[in-house]
Amino acid sequence: MGRLAAGMSRLGTESAFEVLARAKALEEEGRDIINLGIGQPDFTTPQNIVEAAVKALRDGHHGYTPAGGIGPLREAVAADIEKMRGVAVDPGHVVVVPGGKVTMFFAIIMFGEPGVEILYPNPGFPIYQSVINFTGAKAVPMPLHEESGFSFNAEEVLERITPATRLIVLNSPANPTGGVVPRAEIERLVEGLEAHPGVTILSDEIYSRMLYDGRTHVSLLEYETIRDRLIVLDGWSKTYAMTGWRLGYGVWPASLVAAATRLAINCHSCVNAATQYAGIEALTGPQDSVDRMVAAFDERRGVIVEALNAIPGFRCTEPGGAFYAFPDITGTGMGAAELQDRLLAEAGVATVAGTSFGVHGEGYLRFSYANSTDNIRQAARRIRECL
Ligand code: PLP
Repeated sequence: MGRLAAGMSRLGTESAFEVLARAKALEEEGRDIINLGIGQPDFTTPQNIVEAAVKALRDGHHGYTPAGGIGPLREAVAADIEKMRGVAVDPGHVVVVPGGKVTMFFAIIMFGEPGVEILYPNPGFPIYQSVINFTGAKAVPMPLHEESGFSFNAEEVLERITPATRLIVLNSPANPTGGVVPRAEIERLVEGLEAHPGVTILSDEIYSRMLYDGRTHVSLLEYETIRDRLIVLDGWSKTYAMTGWRLGYGVWPASLVAAATRLAINCHSCVNAATQYAGIEALTGPQDSVDRMVAAFDERRGVIVEALNAIPGFRCTEPGGAFYAFPDITGTGMGAAELQDRLLAEAGVATVAGTSFGVHGEGYLRFSYANSTDNIRQAARRIRECL
């Protein structure tokens, strides 16, 4: 076999998919597994959205579309941003892509190369660090702190900026912690970034609709001083239970729209047409199914935090957003990876080790509570018995 490009050996992965594969293999052997590993809603896509895709296929939308997405979808995204975030966005700056991940991949390969530094949250979504490493850039972790709800500290982030820093990745509400960065911390960071005009910001806002206890989403789009170097990532996967459809978008600054579109043309040409019509219906149709799903997550959040805190050796703070709980498990005396493996093999409960999200995830385990309250309670019982 020929030799692979060097970057391939630096590419990481998303362990949640590996845990999912192991859980499925155990299920095929007849084991009963409760899956609190993978981060996807356990709901199906609302029927009105499914029907819109079926109709699009019946109406003959079978061909390529413009690389950045069909006009009505980009307009629907801009209108949704105006409605949800109170910010006007030019539909021409919206680039529709196959899933939230693609905006992330494009933004990081656009800026990453040897000699460059990119800051990313740690513990954070593992693909940030993986793709940064792939490009040959230096991945600089920005630690998140449990005592401040897994927020970053703006001063700490700003201190890490050097002349080589080209991109900062932010994510709130966050995977894997469920953390929500307080507005005041974001404002301190934005203010500090004014002194670093050469640094672009990628704000991953894929969990923007999943907030609890009356919290409202703070979008980086609200801050005019950084708009000309801000990329916002969002999509349909989590909000509309559409992870398998592969639909997401980026809002790019004017200067980067052409580059993002060119990457799309080189990579996937466009998102499949019927899915784009489904995306319009999702944004413009009734939103009550989103509200119902978020209310269900909120109830499960209460159940899982209480259940995890009742396990000896576990200590779980209340997450403010997304659908993850991230308990400290140091009291069990086990490392995160060891505990993850034991819980899957012995208790039949799939979780993801905090270390899958970076070095600062040691001592924690990620639980996705996108599962029924019965399953959550049963999983906690099994863990207690196993330990
Ligand atoms: N960003 C974060 C923080 C995520 O947790 C995920 C998915 O788990 C994504 C992006 C990717 O979403 P998608 O499935 O739409 O690619």
